[in-house]
Amino acid sequence: MSGDKALEWLRREGRIVIVGASLAGLRAAETLREEGFTGSLTLIGDEPHEPYDRPPLSKQVLLGHATADRTALPRRREIDAHWRLGVAATGLDMAARRVRLADGDEVEYDRLLIATGVHARPWPHESEAALDGVFVLRTSDDAAHLQRRLAASPRRVLVIGAGFTGSEIASACRERGLAVTVAERGPAPLVGALGGVIGRVAAEVQREQGVDLRCGIMVTGLEGDSAGRLRRAHLSDGTTLDTDVAVVSLGAKRNTEWLAGSGLGAGPRGIACDAGCRAFDVRGIVTDDVFVAGDVARSPHALFGYQFLSLEHWGNAVAQAETAAHNMISSSSERRPHLWVPAFWSTQFGVNIKSVGVPSLGEEIIVAQGSLSDRRFTCVYGYQGRVIAAVTFDQTKWLEFYQRQIESAAPFPPDYSSVDRRPEGLRPVPAEFPDPSLPTHGPSVTVSGYSPTDQQITFTPARF
Ligand SMILES: Cc1cc2nc3c(=O)[nH]c(=O)nc-3n(C[C@H](O)[C@H](O)[C@H](O)COP(=O)(O)OP(=O)(O)OC[C@H]3O[C@@H](n4cnc5c(N)ncnc54)[C@H](O)[C@@H]3O)c2cc1C
Repeated sequence: MSGDKALEWLRREGRIVIVGASLAGLRAAETLREEGFTGSLTLIGDEPHEPYDRPPLSKQVLLGHATADRTALPRRREIDAHWRLGVAATGLDMAARRVRLADGDEVEYDRLLIATGVHARPWPHESEAALDGVFVLRTSDDAAHLQRRLAASPRRVLVIGAGFTGSEIASACRERGLAVTVAERGPAPLVGALGGVIGRVAAEVQREQGVDLRCGIMVTGLEGDSAGRLRRAHLSDGTTLDTDVAVVSLGAKRNTEWLAGSGLGAGPRGIACDAGCRAFDVRGIVTDDVFVAGDVARSPHALFGYQFLSLEHWGNAVAQAETAAHNMISSSSERRPHLWVPAFWSTQFGVNIKSVGVPSLGEEIIVAQGSLSDRRFTCVYGYQGRVIAAVTFDQTKWLEFYQRQIESAAPFPPDYSSVDRRPEGLRPVPAEFPDPSLPTHGPSVTVSGYSPTDQQITFTPARF
């Protein structure tokens, strides 16, 4: 079959399988139908629920304003798909184009989209993680369980880790009038995502709102009573804390374990793909029939020096799914790159935090509008002399302006002749991100052989 005919056949009668039936999976399925794909569409999801929205889980659901079963994602259109919910994909045979399922079934595909997202990093000690009162928050079931426990008025909640999710959980607890301790290994909340300058503001906000915030502290152990209920936490400063609920918010791990041995370039940092969402195999060669989207993907972004970005942002999952779906049923000349400018939001302690660009790439930061002491500001991040990101606290109106600055590689510090005001005397200061040279959990790839014809790549999956 010629290329055109094969594509026409694929669009009319091909088999597309999507693994991961959540935000990215659903939006990709809708886009495929929107763009005229009439073949068979199968969505495989290990959760028993139809696709639902996760951002409300740490906000409205924990506050009791919405129940966890009322966060279903709105549908944009009918997708006429074969849903395989409550069953995990357990393996991939790329040569035979087949996905293996936990129930023993196998599903064949002509094009595969992997949108398996991430899962909450669990508490590392299994017996302690199993104590009654120890929670993580990623799924609607997690949120339902945690909400019920918070509604039962625990004496104290311990939040382990003060990233976005941990901080939102602490905020919901305070809003419910609960005593909360937040233990954070770094020097301030949100420091990994936004750096030390904004982290200090976040710390002040948390303390003002009654959080017992302990930075530079690690939880070293969780202790239960004879009935297996959490009673106490041990901290790295030698102290103990009586608590009956601990929420482990230590970030996320990519759902790639099921791809071990498949030959796909998948590991704990995600699945690497090109800007057109085509997955790389372990040799770094791009595949033609396996695509990736959403939190599980790592893709190069032209605006950020072609660095591979792993984003856990709602908007990225939607935009990347749409691009992947389009490219799955398009010829190479019609394919388009995923060029979405990263953006996310968070609401915590009454503050509306928004971001565009990639703050964590920032070397320097400047308060461009407003002031840190008012907790109402726009901070702009610079990288190698250009604007790379902006973060607002209760000042959303500036985001669009800075998004254009990022897109046009505008010089940093910004040109204030086009901006309403420049705070007197303010100069860029270091953005204060934690040391990026911390050990990673990447897979080991080793190369053997000298001439191009006998060079071999060996891929050793990292230990999860
Ligand atoms: C509590 C919380 C609050 C958030 N708040 C915000 C926010 O305020 N702003 C923001 O921008 N983003 C927020 N996010 C992030 C946002 O929800 C994610 O970026 C988005 O859900 C990513 O969608 P996804 O489809 O890529 O992955 P996911 O939503 O993680 O979905 C992946 C799906 O694949 C399933 N799966 C995994 N492995 C397999 C397998 N082997 N077989 C079958 N199925 C599998 C998973 O169970 C899951 O259902 C929040 C996330 C959480 C958890």
